[in-house]
Amino acid sequence: MRCPYCDKPDTRVIDSRQTEDGYVVRRRRVCDACGKRFTTYESAEASILMIVKKDGRREAFERKKVINGLKKACEKRPVSMGEIEDIAARIEQKLYALGEKEVLSDRVGEFVMDELRKTDQVAYIRFASVYREFADVEKFAEEIDALRKHSAHSAGRTIQIAIDGPSGAGKSTIAKGVAAKLGIDYIDTGAMYRAMALKVKRTGTDASDEAALAELLADTEIDFEDGQVTLDGEPVESEIRTPEISEGASVIAAIGIVREKLVDAQRAIGRSKNVVLDGRDIGTHVFPDSKYKFYLTATAEERASRRYKELKDRGEDVTFEEVLKDVQERDYRDMTRDVDPLRKADDAVEIDSTNMTIDEVVNFVVDSLNK
Ligand code: C5P
Repeated sequence: MRCPYCDKPDTRVIDSRQTEDGYVVRRRRVCDACGKRFTTYESAEASILMIVKKDGRREAFERKKVINGLKKACEKRPVSMGEIEDIAARIEQKLYALGEKEVLSDRVGEFVMDELRKTDQVAYIRFASVYREFADVEKFAEEIDALRKHSAHSAGRTIQIAIDGPSGAGKSTIAKGVAAKLGIDYIDTGAMYRAMALKVKRTGTDASDEAALAELLADTEIDFEDGQVTLDGEPVESEIRTPEISEGASVIAAIGIVREKLVDAQRAIGRSKNVVLDGRDIGTHVFPDSKYKFYLTATAEERASRRYKELKDRGEDVTFEEVLKDVQERDYRDMTRDVDPLRKADDAVEIDSTNMTIDEVVNFVVDSLNK
């Protein structure tokens, strides 16, 4: 219908209601060109939308029938009756907005599928498989595959790959390798404890003063940007890899209120997308329901010699004995603390990387995901 204000041909129906006597339909319309709204009264007979079925038969459009189809598709799904009614109202609106007297039933089906796709993947697949009668099986299989990948990204259906283990076991190298191979994100949870330790150091806060620490935590934002940890929005990766911050991180990581805040943040990130996380308590505490848990170890000497080489390469002035002592002390603190101590989850796959190359471990992890 033309707009009475700007004369553009296509106006959209916002809603339609039959008057009580049933002879007249009152429609509110909007013109997308000039934004004006107006109401029309049309004779019910002339304004009934006819649906042309696949076999050529015609029947009057009824919202109730759309609702019934939606109800069937959404059975036992977390979609409320209110949502179903809203969806049906939107579909009716779209159909009338076409401005046609007759609409093919396929068109109605496409509108329903569009709406369900956004609402619930399972309901969508149920509806689409019946509606399309698997006419184009290959295309449909492709679509289901794409949806599966997509739905793995939506809340509640993401995967979390947990890689736990003691300091220097190579968790971050392996986690990065696995994430790159799978094309998903890597979350370095240790970096979050390190960033918090940096904040404690910068502000000169006494970490044993719980009230002061609680205040500091409330005023701290730790997140990731482009895979790098940020402290109150500032990238701090280059400042958190020193022996002093390693020690500080392991001290504050034993404090309950620190863990609570960082674990909440880790869960929020992990639920929003597919991720590989490395840490100490990912499989036991952060994501205990994850199906993919690994516990990476190596002897203390091997781990110390890897870290020693790393520090030397960065030009740090350290001796092997100091690094070994540091590794042993951190192991002790991580394994004996009261809150979420480091331990292997019962259902985690243990990997001793002492005599394995990085590629061997990465491939082992990726291969075990498919078993
Ligand atoms: O892994 P990374 O050495 O960077 O971690 C720094 C410290 O943070 C560890 O020594 C450990 O005490 C703590 N941490 C933790 N829980 C995690 C990750 C790290 O307690 N999930």
